Amino acid sequence: MTTDRPVTEPADGGENAEIVIVGGGLAGSLAAAVLARAGHRVALVDKRAVYPDEFRVEKIGGHQLDLIRKLGFIDALEHVACRYDRVLNIREGKVVDVSVGQAYGFSYASLVATARSQIPDCSNLIVDEVIAISNGDDVQHVELASGRRLTARLVVLATGMAGVLGYKLGIRRRVLAERHSVSFGFTIARRDGIPFDFEALTCYGERTADGIDYLSLFPVRDGMRANLFMFRDPTHPIMRELRREPEATILRLLPGLRSYLGDFRVTDRVQNWVMDLTVVEGHLLPGVVLIGDAFQTNCPAAGTGVARLLVDVDRLCTEYAPQWLMSAGMGREKISQFYSDREKIAADQQSLKMARFRQALTSRNGVGWDVRRRLHFLRRSLTHRVDQMHPGWIGRIRGALRA
Ligand SMILES: Cc1cc2nc3c(=O)[nH]c(=O)nc-3n(C[C@H](O)[C@H](O)[C@H](O)COP(=O)(O)OP(=O)(O)OC[C@H]3O[C@@H](n4cnc5c(N)ncnc54)[C@H](O)[C@@H]3O)c2cc1C
Repeated sequence: MTTDRPVTEPADGGENAEIVIVGGGLAGSLAAAVLARAGHRVALVDKRAVYPDEFRVEKIGGHQLDLIRKLGFIDALEHVACRYDRVLNIREGKVVDVSVGQAYGFSYASLVATARSQIPDCSNLIVDEVIAISNGDDVQHVELASGRRLTARLVVLATGMAGVLGYKLGIRRRVLAERHSVSFGFTIARRDGIPFDFEALTCYGERTADGIDYLSLFPVRDGMRANLFMFRDPTHPIMRELRREPEATILRLLPGLRSYLGDFRVTDRVQNWVMDLTVVEGHLLPGVVLIGDAFQTNCPAAGTGVARLLVDVDRLCTEYAPQWLMSAGMGREKISQFYSDREKIAADQQSLKMARFRQALTSRNGVGWDVRRRLHFLRRSLTHRVDQMHPGWIGRIRGALRA
């Protein structure tokens, strides 16, 4: 079904592509690269030529890397990111455990730029704003702010948290938890210029009243990045203090961190973000499919946004869309296959489950949660000690339990 015709060839009163992807953040850019590499005629439309310096995901590891590898982007990631393998986890100044495993730190803008650079033909990227979509069982019409019009068999909405286009199509966002979490991102360095003596470090909150889940410190190309994740009223004065006097406020909230950081300073702008947990409704439409944050938002502390969007890209672009294009029509029955995909549903549900768990573990009061919190960290620290004394034991026991 694929041809070599460029996106710019006129057809049906508009420029023709098989698939128009609206939104070139991480989800849309990766989807465009996967589909274009497979030979599909793709147009990726984003209102910005370069993703701005905005705080989004800045580190990935674990299962996310398996999917990145499967989609063929691991080399590109290594090119732009800073690898680290050991994370020292502390609470109240004491070591909880050490996480070992490949992970990468980066700026989101550079990651998106890298994803876009993986699209084989750069003319597939159109810098423009989509202002309207009219959808149907066969052909989709996409109207751009410049007056350009595109036609396609399938439109992928990867517009992140911007809901206007979906709204015009009758798609609504259900708010599951308003102002669920607050995140801060900034870069730190020691005042004496000496590197920190850890590769990466996670410091968990000490008091439930502070609402701090954890502060994660990890290397990026420009230094040591800090992501602070909180569950607290975003209008509380502490938010302003974190922006104005980040060094002193961090040490006041996490005194156990002092000996690990030494005399440090914040070297760039403190960015912060208040996140609502939302999921779309009324999205089962002919000719249009939603991926990434356009479908469901995520709690940054849970670290599941990228896992979700990678599952979306993988399932849609390697399984469903290529099949759909092989037969006529793009009705609801085709689109519903993607939304009913077991892996997708599992990833979406896991993301919500983790969001609720992190919030509860951080800030829920009551004897039950106090005990659970203590047991959570006690189990981790005992496992760590046993592993230090008898390397390999824990892995073997886990393996035996799984068998
Ligand atoms: C502060 C913060 C920290 C986070 N930390 C983590 C983390 O540690 N781990 C993790 O896994 N996840 C994290 N996430 C979540 C993760 O960043 C997101 O899930 C991911 O970036 C979503 O990518 P996306 O492509 O769906 O949306 P986006 O990256 O928002 O991209 C949407 C794109 O659509 C474009 N667009 C919108 N409307 C139009 C239009 N009408 N026409 C043309 N273009 C349009 C925009 O310009 C933008 O480029 C975090 C999120 C935030 C906010």
